[in-house]
Parts: sequence; structure tokens; C-alpha cells
Amino acid sequence: MILDEQVLGLADDHLVDLAELNALGVSGNFALVKEAGEAFVAMQKAASDDGIDCQIYSGFRSFNAQSSIWEQKWFGERPTLNDAEEQVELHHLSELDKMHAILRFSALPGASRHHWGTDIDVYDARCVNDANYNLKLVPSEYEAGGICADLNAWMMENAEKFEFTRPYAQDRGGIGIEPWHYSYAPVAQKIIQNFPLAALHQQIIQYSLAGKHIVLANLDIVYNRYILNNSNIKDAL
Ligand SMILES: [Zn+2]
Repeated sequence: MILDEQVLGLADDHLVDLAELNALGVSGNFALVKEAGEAFVAMQKAASDDGIDCQIYSGFRSFNAQSSIWEQKWFGERPTLNDAEEQVELHHLSELDKMHAILRFSALPGASRHHWGTDIDVYDARCVNDANYNLKLVPSEYEAGGICADLNAWMMENAEKFEFTRPYAQDRGGIGIEPWHYSYAPVAQKIIQNFPLAALHQQIIQYSLAGKHIVLANLDIVYNRYILNNSNIKDAL
């Protein structure tokens, strides 16, 4: 059972270090819930046997870390990209449109699947390092011809055997397509089915977050479109 504060990224005591589970390479520096970590290590070894260096680029992220990403985007200190991988000029937008632009690829603090210890962004470390490439985590890097194309093809074929699925495989008008993001379904599905929306609401009220009034006024929309990620394109327009 995962507690509300763990779902919201306010605690990390439900996680185990992947080094203890003998993860290869940099992934040993990350932590996940034990079942997800064990499944990841098994998947990583299978990938390695097929010549793919599957490493975690981003794993657990705390509420504070997500809040820092959110604030940097809100104040334009960090680029917010659109679907064409171009930077959005946020200062031209209303606060509501700005919120939606950020939420397309960055979660509201307290509402990131990266808080849960079940979700990871993966990349092909050998390809990236050999090319001395600066990974941006954009879809083109995972498409044919991209630096992580081989990893992507391997994951598409094999990840489900290890119960990792892609919550952002399709564009439903909420979160954009993220080929790098995988989720350990047995635990993550239980979390999303019991998501503590009231506790998130309380946390945002108590916290000094940029744009909090617009977020609170639209929390039901944010929940449906970006947390459940089950709205469709029509709702987004
Ligand atoms: Zn991710």
C-alpha cells in the first residue's frame, strides 16, 4: 500500500536503491519501489543481452524537484516546448494557456508519475555517450534514425514482458507522446485508480506555487486531462 504522501512525492521511504538490486550502470543511482526495481533490473539485463544499454535518465522525482521544474518553466527560465519541439513564448499567453502549455510535457508538482517510484524515463546510454550527444528527451530522438531508435524498438517489443507499459503512448489531448516514459503497471495502476485528489488539492493550497490560483480553479480539468490523461482532443480545444 502506497501512502498519500508517497504518491504526492512528499516521501521516498517506499523506495529501494537500484544499486542494491544490482542494476547496471547509472541506473544503480536511482530508486524505485522494490517490485518495479526488480522488474527493471531483469529488463535491463535482457536488453543488455541483446546489445542495448537501457539506462534510467529520470526515475523518482520529489515534490520539491517537480516544483522547481514547474517554477523554472512558469518564469521562462527553462524552455517549454510545443509538439513541434519548438520553444513556446509563454509571456504571450494567458495564465490558463500557460498552465496548459507547461502541463503538456511537465506534470503539476504532486501529480507527477515520477513521484510514485514506478515510472522511469529510459535512454540508450551507450549510443548517447559514444556520440557525446546531449539528450533532450524529445520524440524525434526515439523515432527511426534517432539516437535512441534501437532502444525504442527493443522496448516496444519487450517491455510488456516485464510489465512496463507506456502511459503516454497515445495523444489524448493531455500529455504529449513520450516514447521514453515507462511505468511498472502492477503498482502504477493501483495508484492511478486510487489517486488522492483531495490530498493533492490540500497540498497545493498550502504550498507557494507559481500560478497556484489558476491551478486550483482548474484542478478537476488538470486531473482528468493530465493526471488520468483520458481527455480527448476535443476537450482540449
Ligand atoms: Zn517521464
